[in-house]
Parts: sequence; structure tokens; C-alpha cells
Amino acid sequence: QEQPKEALETTSGKRRKIAILTSGGDAPGMNAAVRGVVRTAIMRGCDAYAVHEGYQGLVDGGDMIKKMGWDDVQGYLTTGGTVIGTARCKAFRERWGRLKAAKNLVKNGIDALVVCGGDGSLTGADLFRGEWPDLLEELVQTNELTKDEAATFSHLNIVGLVGSIDNDMSSTDITIGAVTCLHRICESIDSISSTASSHSRAFVVEVMGRHCGWLALMAGIATGADFIFIPERPPSGDNWQDEMCADIKKHRDLGKRKTIVIVCEGAIDSNLQPITAKDLKDLLTDRLHLDTRMTILGHVQRGGKPCAFDRNLATIQGIEAVEAVLASKPDVPSPMIAMCENRTKRIDLMKAVALTGEVAKAIGRKDFVAAMQLRDPAFNEQYEQYVATTQAHSTNAEKKNGHSLRIGIINVGAPAGGMNAAVRTAVRYALNRGHVPFAINNGFPGLIAGQVREMKWMDVDGWMSHGGSELGTNRDQPSLDLGMVSYQLQKFNIQGLLLIGGFEAYTACLEMYNSRDSYPAFCMPMVHIPATISNNVPGTEYSLGCDTSLNAIMESCDALKQSATASRKRVFVVEVHGGKTGFLAVMSGLAVGATSVYIPEEGINLTRLQKDVRHLCQRYAEDAEGRSQGRVIIRSESASKTYTTDIVSAIIKEEGHQQFDSRTAILGHIQQGNSPSPLDRVRAMRLSVCAIDFIEEHVSGLSSSSSISSSSSSAGPEVYNKDPESIAVAGIHGNKVNFTSVEALQRHTDMKNRKPMQSWWMDCKDMCNLLARRTDLL
Ligand code: ATP
Repeated sequence: QEQPKEALETTSGKRRKIAILTSGGDAPGMNAAVRGVVRTAIMRGCDAYAVHEGYQGLVDGGDMIKKMGWDDVQGYLTTGGTVIGTARCKAFRERWGRLKAAKNLVKNGIDALVVCGGDGSLTGADLFRGEWPDLLEELVQTNELTKDEAATFSHLNIVGLVGSIDNDMSSTDITIGAVTCLHRICESIDSISSTASSHSRAFVVEVMGRHCGWLALMAGIATGADFIFIPERPPSGDNWQDEMCADIKKHRDLGKRKTIVIVCEGAIDSNLQPITAKDLKDLLTDRLHLDTRMTILGHVQRGGKPCAFDRNLATIQGIEAVEAVLASKPDVPSPMIAMCENRTKRIDLMKAVALTGEVAKAIGRKDFVAAMQLRDPAFNEQYEQYVATTQAHSTNAEKKNGHSLRIGIINVGAPAGGMNAAVRTAVRYALNRGHVPFAINNGFPGLIAGQVREMKWMDVDGWMSHGGSELGTNRDQPSLDLGMVSYQLQKFNIQGLLLIGGFEAYTACLEMYNSRDSYPAFCMPMVHIPATISNNVPGTEYSLGCDTSLNAIMESCDALKQSATASRKRVFVVEVHGGKTGFLAVMSGLAVGATSVYIPEEGINLTRLQKDVRHLCQRYAEDAEGRSQGRVIIRSESASKTYTTDIVSAIIKEEGHQQFDSRTAILGHIQQGNSPSPLDRVRAMRLSVCAIDFIEEHVSGLSSSSSISSSSSSAGPEVYNKDPESIAVAGIHGNKVNFTSVEALQRHTDMKNRKPMQSWWMDCKDMCNLLARRTDLL
């Protein structure tokens, strides 16, 4: 892209030089951020630098500040930690250290610094920028810099990227590294769970988070832990130990064989006294006589490959950081790149840091309500939902308007990660609300055959981590036999229906909506929770399963790239699912650094293939030393009927001559993934709770005296609601859950291609091309 000349040059007319450093605790995804900054800077006509060992490198200068070339960041996407190093630097906290750092930047001609770190690192960066004119003046006075040098670099641009596994920064919904850390925690707790169940043990697991309970809360949700302890929301009252033991005993009495308690490092009670893993272990051992073990996860949590979410988050934010540098003005405060409502946003760095500090202050003055509110807007809601779906209420549970509803739960379409988590949450939340949940097995054919059974609390135990569909799922529609579908719903007196599935679940809702005149049994609230790896359901930005699938594709592509790298000159053409939607191809392409991505929205033609071959020839020709990484091209299964994966690969191989060859990899059903990713589990819980609330809110026609018998025979539908708004898709929009009626969504749906008309993720395709140096495609 052409950039206005002045944006690429310093005031002296020299090429802009942008440096990046990583500071504070390492976080998975930091390398992807470095890659994003370096490559975007180069693509925007700037010079890119990496400062090694955080601020220490800035203070020491010399070899610690290195110019970066395009290929220097090869392989960065897959690597955990930070390749350019990080350190806690005392010298930078002192003015003399910052003086040295300023001199080193000026001597290297650098006037823009992207800092990726936690709130401490960003505070240091802003302080540095504020002091910059004074620092330069002092350096001129002591003859360490000339007046000309000081004049040329009179302004320092700072941009902050939040790399922090704790997700403890205010004003951004998520920080780089937090989701990968959650992956590590969930993998560990899933493993612990099986041994806990086997021996009927209790485990107290300590996770990171000195001042922030995000990891503990999300891990609690994702693993279905019995209890969590976080600093922002201490257990209430002085007798929380009694209540906790009573709840655990109740779960044990229900038949639960394992107890998992998650405690974050900074957990406290309401008197600000620490609650430690040891305290909790002793409590469970002494009071409940449970065989209790303690596991401190420690640094395992920081380690390993970044997950797809973090790679993409860091890449997108790295690109945005360079754009922010190019757009910066001396009188505008330093920006921090935040993620708000699923979009990048530049916000005032120091305001965000100050707000972050407010959380600790609120906790210090025991204002826990304020502490919860200062976290991202969904935090409080998710905490409440976690509690409402974790602790089994007693039999006289709260009933909405005094009614106990019979709620059917059905899976429709192909399996997707998070389906079971959604069923599990719906069952438990419904029970706690005083309703009677029914599982409908094997989709609509199962319903037609009367495969309906009442669900109890323990029927869904452990389902958060189960992949596939425990209920059984298929693509059949109600039109298979609308009469029988209606009959069975009526026979079991189902008064609200929760459909968890893909586009087929959406069309099933439409069929029942359109048949309401003929079949009164369909005149009840219905909610569709989107669950499909393709992410092609209208009315939501993300469907359950798409994150699990992205991670599965990423794992496969990493392995293929490794193989291609070993054989040096190989290009893999990888075929991915997605129907007529390029979401999986684009987002996995971004996460693995694909050379090219073919999507149905664009198709494939000869011109494009020529461009790709030319690009590959050029890239391999540049690689005289033969140290190039393997390459992958991602092809969405429906990108072209003519240019199939085999044909694309054959063309690449043929045209590559001796320079490179090509192989194919068709990932197929592997893409459904194994255990659902933590994000899919967390999203499943949120959507299911909101869905049950929606059903309650849209029930009308029940008289206050009507009581629902739990027997399967009943006189007919007692709920009657024909309002179009009563059949809706539960969608994730930014960090909110919204409902849109299936009737309204028809206007935003491309029914022929089975996808929404708008795709928010299309911008990511250009990012993919940018970071693959595809100027020919931009
Ligand atoms: P984490 O969340 O992993 O702890 P962090 O960025 O908050 O990350 P810190 O140790 O607080 O980690 O800060 C990292 C480095 O940033 C410090 O070692 C120091 O060099 C610099 N730094 C932090 N705070 C300041 C400050 N107030 N003034 C100058 N430099 C600072």
C-alpha cells in the first residue's frame, strides 16, 4: 500500500526506524507480535529493529539493538516465550538508565518504540516518552549528543502492546498470552481430573494471577471446577469454609467422584487475608476427610506454543502498532493497542495503566463490587454464570414466575467443539432454575423416534472437556417428518427448545417457525446456539467449535511446515473445511503464516495461480543459503470446482521446476478437533445460560397456577408464543451475547451459500497477504 511520504520519514527526511522490545514476564504470542511489527514496518517502507532483553537492551545498546530483516522473524509464530528476550531491568527505573537508553535510540536513528509487556513495562515506556525532551537536553549538555541529533529526534513515539498471561490490563478485553496460558491450565486440569476421578480425590490447583482472577475464573468455567478463589471476589462472610464444605459434600452425595478447586496466587478472603492452596487442601482433608492433593502449576502455564487465538491477536495488534506509529503526532498521548468488542482500538496508554491500578486499590479498600466492575464488562457476568451452573441448588430451586419449564435440548448438524459444554451448562442451569431439562438424542430423527430423556445433574458430569456430541448429532431437518416432530414435542410437553448446532440448526428453526400455523407445538421459545467449525451461522461473530478447529488446523499446519522445512523446498497445499465460507482458511492462514489463502468468496483463477507461482519462485530464488522455512498454502474446500487441491499442487510442482516441489494435505474431519478449546468451552457456558434466560423471558401463555408434571404424557402445549422474536439465534457480538430472531436474520443470510452476507473477518485476509509479503495481492 502506498503510504504518504511524510509518514515514512522522520522530520530530517530519513527513513523511519521502528524498534520493538518485549519486557516483563514472557507471554506466548510475543513473538507473533514482534513478527507483525517487523514485517509491517518493512512493508510500510520503514526499517525495523529489535531490542533484545527488554529495557536492559535499550540501556546497554550495542549488539542488543539489531536491525531485523524479513526472514529474521521466520518461525516466530510457532515459538513460545520471546525469542528477542525479556528482562526485569532495574536501571531503566532510574533516570541514568533512561538517559543511556535515550542516547542508544538516537544513535541508532530510532524514533519509534513499540513495547510489548505488562502494565509495569508500559508505565516505564510512557515515563520515558514524557521525559524524552529533558533527557535529550541533558545529553546535549553533557556532549553525548549533538544539537542536530537532538533536534532530529525531538519526539519519541511510543506504542504499547499488552503482553501478559494474566489478562490483567484494564480497557482491553484480552491481552497477548492469556488464552494460551488458559490452554495450558485446562490441559493440566483435564489430566488431573481423570486421576482425581479414578481415586475419588480432591485436587487444589494453584494458577497464576497475583492481582487478577481471570485465569482462575476462565479455567474454573472451562474445566467445570467445583470452586474458584480470586482476588476480586473473595468468598463472602466469615463462614465460607462451612459453605464450601457443604457444597462439596452435596456434590459428593450426588455421586461426584472428584473435586477440583482452583485458587489463583493472589486469592484473598474478605478481610484481605491470603487464601492459599495449602489452606484449602488442609480444609478439605480435615473437614471432609477427602484424599486431597495440591498442584501448583507454576511456569508450565507460561510455556509452549501459542494457540491460534494468541497468534492472531498478536499479529493483528502488531500490524496496528505500526499503523499507530505512522499516524502518531507529538501532541497525542501514547496509544495502547487494545481489543474491544472483537476489534482493535487505540486507547490512551496511561489511562489504561491508571485504570488497571484502580483494581488493586479497590481490593485494598475492600470494595469488591468496584473491583469486579473494573475488569472487562463480561467478567462479572461470567462469574455469576459460573456460580449459577456449578453449585447444585437444593430441590426448592428458584422458578421463573413460579413455573417449572420442560426444556428440550438437541444437537443438529456436524459435531463441533463445545457442543457438550453447552448441553452440560444448559442442563445444570435449567435445573438450578427449577426447570426440567430433556436431552433429545440423535437430532431430529431421534426426536421423531421418541429418543427423549430427562437429564439430571450428574448425567452431564465431565462434559465440559468432552469433544464431539454426547447427545448424537446429524444434519436431518424437522421436515423429515414435521408431524412426528410436532407430536413428540407435544407428547413430552416440551415448552422451550434449545438447538445447538450449525447452519442446519438455523434452517431447522426456520422450518419450525414457518410451520407454526399448522403445528402449535412449535409455538414456544426456541434458541439456536451456533456450533459449527465453519463459523457460517448468521447472527454471530463466532460459533462454538471454530476456535477448537482453528487450533486443530494450526497444529496440523505446524507439523506440515516442519516437514516442509526439513525437506527444504516444499510447499504444502492444505485443504480445510468451511463450506462456502473462508473463515477457517483465512484465520488459520494468519495463524500459521500461509503464503496464500484460497477462499470461496474469491475463487481461484489462472491469474491468481500465476501470481502465486511467481511469488514462490522469487522467494525460493532469494534463498541462496537454502535455510528457508517450509511453506503452506491454505485452500478452502469450496474455493474452486476446477482448481482442486490436487490440481493446484500439481501446477505449483510443475511450475516450480527444480526450485521447489509440492504436496497436498487434506485435513478432513481432523479439523473437528479433539477436546474443545477453552474459548469454546467458555463461550458455550455463556451462550447456554443466556439461552435458558431467553427461553424463560419468552414464555407466555402459562397461567400462574399451571404445574408441569414430570411424566411424559400431557395434554398439549401449555406454552403458546407465536411472536417471531421467540425463535432466535444466540450470537456473540464483541463481548456481548445478543439474540436475533431467525425471521429477521433471513435478510442477512445468503441462503444459497449457507452463510451470513457480511463477514467481519475478511480484513484478516489482507493481513495474511501483508505478512506473506504479497504486494501483488494487496
Ligand atoms: P508482568 O505483568 O509480567 O509483571 P510487567 O511489564 O508489569 O509485566 P514489570 O516487572 O513491572 O513487569 O516491568 C518490567 C520492566 O519495565 C521493569 O523491569 C522495568 O525495567 C520497567 N518498568 C516497570 N515500571 C517502571 C517504572 N515505573 N518506571 C520505569 N521503568 C519501569
